[in-house]
Formats: sequence, C-alpha cells, structure tokens
Amino acid sequence: MDLIYLDNNATTKVAPEVLEVMLPYFKEEYANPSSIYEFAKNANHTVRESRGVIKDFLNAANEKEILFTSCGSESANTAIRGVLNMNKNRRHIITTKVEHPCVLNLYQTLEKEGYKVDYIGVNSNGELDLAQLEEAINYDTALVSIMYANNETGVIYPIEKISEIIKSKNKETKFFVDAVQAAGKIPIDVQALGVDLLGISGHKFHAPKGIGVLYVNSKTLITPLIIGGHQERGKRAGTENVPYIAGIAKAAELAADGMKYELTEVKRLRDKLEAGIIKNIFNSRINTSISNRVPNTTNIGFEYIEGELILLHLSDLGICASSGSACTSGSLEPSHVLRAMNVPFTAIHGSIRWSLSRYTKESEIDYVLKVLPGIIDKITALSPYQDELANLKRLRG
Ligand code: PLP
Repeated sequence: MDLIYLDNNATTKVAPEVLEVMLPYFKEEYANPSSIYEFAKNANHTVRESRGVIKDFLNAANEKEILFTSCGSESANTAIRGVLNMNKNRRHIITTKVEHPCVLNLYQTLEKEGYKVDYIGVNSNGELDLAQLEEAINYDTALVSIMYANNETGVIYPIEKISEIIKSKNKETKFFVDAVQAAGKIPIDVQALGVDLLGISGHKFHAPKGIGVLYVNSKTLITPLIIGGHQERGKRAGTENVPYIAGIAKAAELAADGMKYELTEVKRLRDKLEAGIIKNIFNSRINTSISNRVPNTTNIGFEYIEGELILLHLSDLGICASSGSACTSGSLEPSHVLRAMNVPFTAIHGSIRWSLSRYTKESEIDYVLKVLPGIIDKITALSPYQDELANLKRLRG
C-alpha cells in the first residue's frame, strides 16, 4: 500500500537535497563552529553562509537579525518572553483566538503572572476583526502577536496592514508574527511586512524536525530564553546545530525556487480536492473558502459524523490527513480555531484538514476523491442523526 501523505501542516518529509547537504556534518565535518583551528573553518563558514541564505529567504536587512533556534515553539517563546522582559513596565499583550498552542498556552501562563491578554476574534471565514484589534492597542501594550497563516484553515492574516495599525496607535509596541505555516508556502518579506520579530520552523518546509529561526529586527531588544554561551550573539546559548542549520538553509533555497509551483500547481491540486469533495459528498462543507489562504490547505467539515472515524478509515487505505478536533483523555475537544469561527457544532467534530506539498501527485488526489465518498457513506449510515441527514440531503440534493 502506497502512502498518500496529506498532512503537511503537521510535518513534511525531508527533501533528499536537504538530507544530502546535512550528512557531511554528521560524519567528517563534525567540528564545533566556535573552535579556532582549521578543522572548524568549514562548520563556521556553513553557519555563516546559512544565516545569509535565511536572511535572503525572509528579506531581512542584516544577517545579525537571524537567530537559529530548535523549533517554531522555541522561536515564539523566545520572541514573546524576550520582548516582555525588555519592557517590564508594560503589562498588556494582544493576540488572537486562533493562534497555535505554543503561543496560546504561553499567554495563559503569562496571564497567571499578571499580564493582561486580549484575544482578538475572527469571523466565520476565519478573518480577523481588525477594528477590535485597533481598539485594543493602548499605551500599555508591550506586544501584539499574530500568526501569518493559520495551521488548521490556511487563512492568511493581513500582517502588513496590522503592522500599520500597530505603529499608528503605539510606536513602542512590538509585533511578533508566528510564520510557521507561511514559510515555504507564500513569500515572506519581513521588511515589507514591517514586523519586529517573526518565527519559522524547518520541519514545515522539508527540513528536519529540530530547527527553527527567529528574525529579530535590529531595533528590537530581547533577553535570551536559553542562557549560557555566547552563541547567536548572546540571544540563544547552545552549540550551533550545524547539520540542521545547513539543512534549513537548503530547504529555504528549495522553497524559494519552488514558490511558483506552490502557488500554482499545489493550489490547483488543493482546489481540485476541495471541489471534488464538495461536489460528490452532500454532507460536506468547506470551513473557509476565501482566496486568501496558503495554497496547500483546506479544512472540510463532514456533518453529523466523527472526524476520528473518517481518519481511521483513511488510514486503513494509507491516506494521512488530520482532524479538526483532538481526542484528549477520552473527551472530544473541538478545535479552538473552528469554534472561534462559529463553525456549526454539527460540522466541527467531523472536520478534516487536508494539507498538500510539492510532492503531492495528481493521482493521489484522484484516489482520495475515488475512495472518500464510500467511506463517508459508510460512516454516515451509522450516524444517530438520520433525520437531520435526510433533511440536509433534501436541501443540498
Ligand atoms: N506555529 C504554528 C502555526 C504551527 O502550526 C506550529 C506547529 O504545528 C508551531 C507554531 C510549532 O512549531 P514547532 O513544531 O516547530 O515547534
């Protein structure tokens, strides 16, 4: 059975070209890049060169603005804690209701530490309420943190516009963007976006798990999260992870080269999957179909049935996707993103996120479209909501 991997927002496969550039640093080129002897020169050069590649990938003004971290979560935690520690007199933070848990759970902790956090809502398409955001910014606001693209729906937030709003209300407020789901899918230009800090994670764009980047512009001061040696200009201690740094730089180069393909071909396959499901399965609904989404993602609700059951049936056929709800300790916890969008309760539990990559083949999409109606029929037949389903069928024909 061939694997059909449509869960690329969870993680991606390491590109063969990426693995290839990493391997020498596990074998012969294992030197610590901070060492001064000749043997360390290549490792040192690789770290410097990779920093330059990432600077170009994000269009940062200076290589000194690029920090290597271990993941997107570390980038977010470093940015948020780092900014707040440098601005101890300000105690107000603004974020959204649809952030990733690595941001939301940190804000819950900060609330317990005495910070006031405002959570901006979204409409039924997942779009942010910018008026609410503008109103919330005040003299005490230390930080606004908003993701670039949502991991569950793919919705892209208007970062450039948000930057303008923030600067017009309070020039001292710092802006952190979690761009983990944007990197590799849409171009990122930190200068045009006008952001102060921005985080990405290698494993979402075909580098391995365990490497991330935090962009911190030269005007923004942060304290380190990890204290120790002088690495990363004192902003993140720990011997540089040379193979992974080489890997994320290669992945960024490949992503930049493949951006056009992502925006056209990957999008075409995503749209084909989406249209095919909606056409052939009466109890399906696209949870947001706005055009301002990353090209690889769609989130589709199957009404009156359970997403986990769908995933298990798909898994039996080697198809990987993910559910909008996480099953924790026996109780079904519906997705906070879909709840914030007011997705009907009848569809939230049956919502599936499909996320493609440049490796997704058209034949794989065709296969999913062939087998999915049968799977949904089988599960729908067992649903306790037969009257509601009959009504829906009448309505949607
Ligand atoms: N932010 C977003 C939007 C994500 O989707 C993820 C991972 O799913 C993260 C942050 C965390 O990234 P990492 O797994 O590298 O810590």
